[in-house]
Amino acid sequence: MSATASPILVTGGAGYIGSHTVRLLAAQGRRVVVLDNLVFGHRQAIIDDGVELVVGDVGDRALLRRLFETHRFGAVVHFAAYAHVGESVTNPLKYYWNNTAEPVRLLQVMQESGCKVFVFSSTCATYGIPTALPITEANPQQPINPYGHSKLMVERILEDCGHAWGLRSACLRYFNASGCSPDGRIGEDHDPETHLIPRVLMAVTGEIDRIEVFGTDYNTPDGTCIRDYIHVEDLADAHARALDHLAAGGASVRCNLGTGVGVSVKDIIHAAEEVTSKPVPVAYGPRRPGDPDSLVADPSLAKQLLGWEARHKDVRDMVRSAWTWMSGPRKGRYGANS
Ligand code: UDP
Repeated sequence: MSATASPILVTGGAGYIGSHTVRLLAAQGRRVVVLDNLVFGHRQAIIDDGVELVVGDVGDRALLRRLFETHRFGAVVHFAAYAHVGESVTNPLKYYWNNTAEPVRLLQVMQESGCKVFVFSSTCATYGIPTALPITEANPQQPINPYGHSKLMVERILEDCGHAWGLRSACLRYFNASGCSPDGRIGEDHDPETHLIPRVLMAVTGEIDRIEVFGTDYNTPDGTCIRDYIHVEDLADAHARALDHLAAGGASVRCNLGTGVGVSVKDIIHAAEEVTSKPVPVAYGPRRPGDPDSLVADPSLAKQLLGWEARHKDVRDMVRSAWTWMSGPRKGRYGANS
């Protein structure tokens, strides 16, 4: 059951993971309205003719009311959020406002309108320092920064709304999103770009002088941090499945979205050299504050509950895909929003 009669509101649908999800939902024949303030999203990332882009804030109650009245949404997929961990430490209120308070507005309007299905972009940052690896959903959720707290609070709010007024939600805890669409038309364009894979490829193209490896003394086999890199197309697929699960009357779910494969910073650099056949200029620097040694998902619950499994498990696929975008016509950038 892919096509649903009622349209779906996708907040932050012009952002990285949002735009890939929007494209998949549209390809599946679902009606999609995107709400994005274009602070970090890109108008050019919405490429399907049938998808309406509304430029505005999730916290704008009057706008939300108008949208819900016009479209009678059957479900909301909520991506709109800030995601810079360091900034969340120096400016926590910005994160609690945007990532926690604004979704409350959205939920209020959903409650008023009788819309009871919510798919939420959560994060492995809600676990903080894992107590065991791979990370299962039973791992305690003890975030170590305001970003993680701002997301965990929404998970709690969704649970409470479930008890109070029957909201059914899917909290999808992403590990490290990477890659682009197979045709290279949409991809990752953050400003500033802080993520490892795009930065390694920027070092290959010469956009930056070198990639700085943040720490070589971690408790891992090669001394660099281990993460679980998940392809953005696999993330999009999980959202579509979560919508189907909830639309079919399924209970609320909270699950990890990762590959289950741990990859070090050095592994990424080697994969980039292999994929691009070019050397990656590297500098070894100190640890970045707040980075745990290893974050690797146990993704089995998502398979059990949603029938979802990552199709891309080899990190070279993720790096090759990111390279398609970086070396394609857009050179990894959409340009200014028109
Ligand atoms: N990293 C790095 N150099 C960079 C960017 C990231 O060594 O320029 C490391 C970072 O310390 C972490 C891993 O790469 O161990 C992934 O970082 P990223 O920012 O991509 O994602 P995060 O895991 O922080 O969400």
